[in-house]
Amino acid sequence: MNVAENLEVIQREIVNACKDAGRNADEVKIIAVTKYVSPKRAQEAIDAGVLHLGENRNEGLLDKISHLQDKPVWHFIGTLQTRKVKNIIDHVTYIHSLDRLSLAKEINKRAGSKVNCLIQVNASGEESKHGLDPEDVIAFVQDLKQYTNIEVSGLMTMAPLTEDEQVIRDSFRKLKILQSEIQKLELKYAPCHELSMGMSNDFKIAVEEGSTMVRIGTALVGNESEVQ
Ligand SMILES: *Cc1c(COP(=O)(O)O)cnc(C)c1O
Repeated sequence: MNVAENLEVIQREIVNACKDAGRNADEVKIIAVTKYVSPKRAQEAIDAGVLHLGENRNEGLLDKISHLQDKPVWHFIGTLQTRKVKNIIDHVTYIHSLDRLSLAKEINKRAGSKVNCLIQVNASGEESKHGLDPEDVIAFVQDLKQYTNIEVSGLMTMAPLTEDEQVIRDSFRKLKILQSEIQKLELKYAPCHELSMGMSNDFKIAVEEGSTMVRIGTALVGNESEVQ
């Protein structure tokens, strides 16, 4: 299927999930994750009406930016090495992978103005996953106060690798609970209104549990590295 058709299917599923959960579908942004595809395919997503694109690597991001005709809103969704911050900082609107103070310090130093950051949380506790332990998140948010270019826009998580829907759902719920704990602190630099959760296989569950940003690669633009 082409990207426009995939997008229509995904949008319909999001609308249905929102209906079930009593939410407004406008609250959910679709981020097309283009890390597995060519700039041409990424351009198709933009042409189909996608406003937000995500890349998980510095090289992939810069390659897309240099080849695309349009300027989408860029989201950096992958592990970010401190020394790479300077390469991406002027190109991205959101960084979804803030997980340590040394990274916050570098973002703060390199940014010309406030950057929208999401704190990556390892909600499932899987050892292979990046992100902060849920119990360390509140203290981390408080520590970020010293970095005036960091805006805590929200939280991000990746669901555990499992077929068990309830386990996936529980990890998303954990993120939602953490969000409300942060919002209760009423910190000016941490409005924390975004929840970045849900990928190709689990975005419906994520939307039911309050996601405001779904990061969808394979189901939307495909995976050209698998096709070859
Ligand atoms: C690759 C990736 C995605 C998209 O994965 P799909 O399963 O292809 O939708 C989402 N989030 C992150 C952080 C990723 O690295």
